Amino acid sequence: MAECDVLIVGGGMAGASLALALSRHAPELSVTVVENAPLDTEAAPETHYQPSYDARSTALGWGSRLIYEDLGLWPALASRATAIRRIHVSDRGRFGSTRLDAAEHGQEALGYVVDNAWLGLNLVASLKQAPVHWLCPARVTQVIPQTGGALVAVAKGEETEQWHCGLLVVADGGRSGLRESLGFHAQQHDYGQHALIATVTTARPHEGLAYERFSDDGPIALLPHGPERDFALVWTLPEDKVADGLEATPEVFLRQLQSLFGWRQGRFEQVGRRQSYPLSLQQVPQPARPGVVLVGNAAHALHPVAGQGFNLALRGLVRLSQCLAEASRRGQPLGAMATLQPYLNEHQKDVETIVGFSDGMVRLFSREQGAPAALRDLGLLALDAAPGIKHWFARQTMGLGGRRSSLEHD
Ligand SMILES: Cc1cc2nc3c(=O)[nH]c(=O)nc-3n(C[C@H](O)[C@H](O)[C@H](O)COP(=O)(O)OP(=O)(O)OC[C@H]3O[C@@H](n4cnc5c(N)ncnc54)[C@H](O)[C@@H]3O)c2cc1C
Repeated sequence: MAECDVLIVGGGMAGASLALALSRHAPELSVTVVENAPLDTEAAPETHYQPSYDARSTALGWGSRLIYEDLGLWPALASRATAIRRIHVSDRGRFGSTRLDAAEHGQEALGYVVDNAWLGLNLVASLKQAPVHWLCPARVTQVIPQTGGALVAVAKGEETEQWHCGLLVVADGGRSGLRESLGFHAQQHDYGQHALIATVTTARPHEGLAYERFSDDGPIALLPHGPERDFALVWTLPEDKVADGLEATPEVFLRQLQSLFGWRQGRFEQVGRRQSYPLSLQQVPQPARPGVVLVGNAAHALHPVAGQGFNLALRGLVRLSQCLAEASRRGQPLGAMATLQPYLNEHQKDVETIVGFSDGMVRLFSREQGAPAALRDLGLLALDAAPGIKHWFARQTMGLGGRRSSLEHD
């Protein structure tokens, strides 16, 4: 039987980031990552990466940049990251609006848009240089929790390996069924909405400006993507409208988007491949047991309205790696609740704040249960006028939370 201190199920953005953080904070720990999808680990990201008009991307807040700087990954990510310097928030057909400007908060950017593929390739390339055992493609098929850790069955081709670990980290995105088979219960609220995502090109250059526009159907986010006129679109649509959005001809689609969004960026000229994701709020109230902890989407999945899901996960992963490093130094068992509790206490507070922030925005501006339009106007105007509230809002957007983080620069 193979042995390791920490076994991470899932080498997606969350699992791979945790492995990298552990390799920096606790290099003495033996860490194994089991990833099902055949992610290339040999070619250098620059030679392997195919930039695509249709690439899926993630908005990383300023706080996530600081984390990746600390982990040594930021210089590689930065070469293909688009800075978000300002955000314009508005309510369609109403007069209330607000602007967030990085310069007003003494930052170079509020956040950055990075292609998921670029982030993934660079994470895997850094793990190759780190003391991490990368098992890929391989799939965790069974977990048996035990005193002092867990027994894990890993299917690799025709063969199955048995592993024993001191701590099992479930970072499988919540879809592989492991969470349920381990008896964790996820609370779920279905928004009855889908996020339609695509790359769109506008007549005017974006100049680092992002938009968050609330319409009767749900929020529309446009994130600057690439050097000039491309945006990553995240358009929230009710279930009964998403098929029309996916199947409309590009001309019809762009016309509808134009009529909802308006002409601030000039004409919408082009749209790439469209994909959609059903939206729900999922939360596991108790995401840890002795020997097992859930992270990333396996622990919490949010509405993408405020682009916070991964940023929230990343902050938790860093905190978890610090707790494990501390336990390792003290000779404490990694899977003990005494080791995991400080992480849980801190991260669950962050989860509550960010869920409240994202879910609150969805509800405030939703057609069915939202506040009256005049109140929404007032909210946006108040946000614009009150420096304290605006600063708080900007800090949530930048992924810096309410307190000063130890990673922030002066
Ligand atoms: C439309 C949309 C837009 C978003 N935009 C943003 C944004 O701008 N900013 C932001 O912060 N967040 C955003 N998010 C959230 C973000 O995408 C998620 O937080 C993130 O993808 C979660 O990553 P993960 O690693 O937890 O899960 P996943 O990405 O699902 O990774 C799970 C991994 O586990 C592997 N796996 C699964 N089962 C097994 C198994 N049994 N054995 C081995 N491997 C396994 C899978 O192959 C996969 O690689 C957005 C989400 C959506 C839907």
